[in-house]
Amino acid sequence: MPEVFKNFINGEWVLSKTGATFNDINPADKSDIVGVFPKSGSEDINMAVEAASSAFDKWRKTPAPARAEIIYKAENLLRKRKEEIAKIATKEMGKILDETKGDVQEGIDTAFYMAGEGRRLFGDTTPSELKNKFCMSVRMPIGVVGLICPWNFPVAIPSWKIFPALICGNTVVLKPASDAPASSMELVQILEEAGMPKGVVNLVHGSGEETGMALVEHPKVNLISFTGSAEVGKKIGELCGRNLKRCSLELGGKNAQIVMDDANIDLAVDGALWGAFGTTGQRCTATSRLIVHKAVLKEFTEKLVERAKKIRIGNGLSPDTDMGPVINESQLKKIHSYVEIGKKEGARLLTGGYFYEEGDCKKGFFYMPTIFMDGHSTMRIAQDEIFGPVVLIMPVNSFDEAIEVMNSTNYGLSSSVYTKDIDRAFKAVYIDYSKRLQKAQIDTAKEH
Ligand code: NAD
Repeated sequence: MPEVFKNFINGEWVLSKTGATFNDINPADKSDIVGVFPKSGSEDINMAVEAASSAFDKWRKTPAPARAEIIYKAENLLRKRKEEIAKIATKEMGKILDETKGDVQEGIDTAFYMAGEGRRLFGDTTPSELKNKFCMSVRMPIGVVGLICPWNFPVAIPSWKIFPALICGNTVVLKPASDAPASSMELVQILEEAGMPKGVVNLVHGSGEETGMALVEHPKVNLISFTGSAEVGKKIGELCGRNLKRCSLELGGKNAQIVMDDANIDLAVDGALWGAFGTTGQRCTATSRLIVHKAVLKEFTEKLVERAKKIRIGNGLSPDTDMGPVINESQLKKIHSYVEIGKKEGARLLTGGYFYEEGDCKKGFFYMPTIFMDGHSTMRIAQDEIFGPVVLIMPVNSFDEAIEVMNSTNYGLSSSVYTKDIDRAFKAVYIDYSKRLQKAQIDTAKEH
């Protein structure tokens, strides 16, 4: 029987008031249920927010270096359990063990960094133009903060949100993604063990539409920190704006790698493979467009396709696996539908483009590393975030054209350039991307 997990509210592990549950499924083997989690509703969120609200005054008055002591303890516990938590994360979301170990390491580093900030919450003093006046700014906590996370960095992203919020004296309600709830549970358990006072950290599992939305709409939540898709981010941003709630949004990407005629091709191929197929292409910063100078197009493409064909697909827990499954069935189907769209749009499929069902992989959600050629910015596969192991090669004739193509997207998360020309490299860093911002704004306005 799979283990049944609970919410963490006011320092207690409790079942949801709804009585409903959902299964956390291993994407490498859909018959393997990692755990059964509460499908919480607004009543559970309300209890968690009330607990966080009651705990706030005492926590904000706890000296920041004393808050840091608890975070240092949590850092230590995370370090001790790194391997064990990485295995849980791989089991519930699929990426290979080396990557989930890196994920936990990011949690450890953030805890260490933020605990240090406990002695550095400096403010400014400013000379006044008036006599006998002293001007200063001090950092004050905001209150109860709602944290909504995606599944693809199941330890790192909650850590990036929780530790800074706590060190500054805020109390939190965390709503993890329902595709990766067990990793967040481990993190919260560690905070409990480290001695976090009751009510300071609360964890409520459930769906985005019900549980997440209840958190966003709760009047006692003063700030929402959201990481996830642009589509959901727009809804959350709108609601927060309407209620004058502070809001931070980290959203999707359609990231590009430029490969110039003077690039070190082997290095560029290494970068493209890791960028496009690492985490099975399911990263906000995944490379999904390869903008390649025609002078090196043949060499780069041949080497890339040859290496992509050698990627070993399988369960992320196996040391022989290079690339794990995609997160769930609907994402698997979405990836394939984009491959069909790409073919119809006239992109040329060089490798992949189908479900991978060899051996045990038929039990899970696996897709072949897929490379398209002859990409153009007007194609949907050059514009939409696919969030899977699919990359599009877009040939160009010059550096200026490469930059133009790179910027012809609504997204602006990450990019890279492979060149030995330092001048070009710096131009790529400082290039004016205001056109891209304008395009994003015009396209968003058209949607409304
Ligand atoms: P998602 O937007 O579907 O869900 C993210 C979280 O929001 C989940 O916890 C979900 O339950 C919740 N949610 C969904 N609908 C909601 C609603 N209406 N109200 C409140 N909460 C709601 O994203 P996902 O599939 O979990 O993650 C993949 C996406 O996240 C990709 O677009 C990826 O690029 C993005 N991402 C961005 C970053 C970054 O730092 N920029 C990092 C990782 C992932």
